[in-house]
Amino acid sequence: MTERVSEQRVFFALWPNAGLRASLSALARRMPANGRPVPAEHLHLTLAFPGTVTAGKVAEMVERTDALRLPQIRLVLEELGWFRRPRVAWVGPAQAEPELEALAVRLNELCRATGVAMEDRPFRPHVTLRRFVTRFESVSIEPLDWRPREMVLIESGQGGHPGPYRVLHSWVLSG
Ligand code: ATP
Ligand code: MG
Repeated sequence: MTERVSEQRVFFALWPNAGLRASLSALARRMPANGRPVPAEHLHLTLAFPGTVTAGKVAEMVERTDALRLPQIRLVLEELGWFRRPRVAWVGPAQAEPELEALAVRLNELCRATGVAMEDRPFRPHVTLRRFVTRFESVSIEPLDWRPREMVLIESGQGGHPGPYRVLHSWVLSG
């Protein structure tokens, strides 16, 4: 007999506070691109994407994350861009942020150590602002300073099925 194993689609992210969320949402609505703005409550910066995994693996990843020393991070979101194939427009830092990249690498390693097969795509930090974008124009914007206080593990949908995001865990970036 096969047992039903409960699964969750999860990812690690930086989660903007209400003020930054409002600024990002305003930018998403007014930026020169077609498509649809991402709802304010979904805006985030993905650090690592384990995807659909068992509840047991989620618990193990949480435990391993508890043991990490999490750096303080400072980001300046100042560059608009788009990914053609997934048709999303985003805002991101213009320069590499070593602390952020190191954190993403450690989270990817932690997921692998838990037995999750991770994709080997390069980390390009961004906050997706609009989806279904086929026309995009890069304009300069007022830079947004971001000193995230915490990192979160989000469940995307429920039980592996699409739906709203839910914060499962959060960790303070205390340095
Ligand atoms: P939906 O797919 O239902 O339209 P969504 O894209 O917001 O909604 P997810 O697909 O669960 O939700 O993705 C959650 C986050 O993880 C998004 O930021 C997405 O860009 C990112 N993501 C998805 N797949 C990968 C992947 N294979 N590697 C890295 N990041 C990913
Ligand atoms: Mg998706």
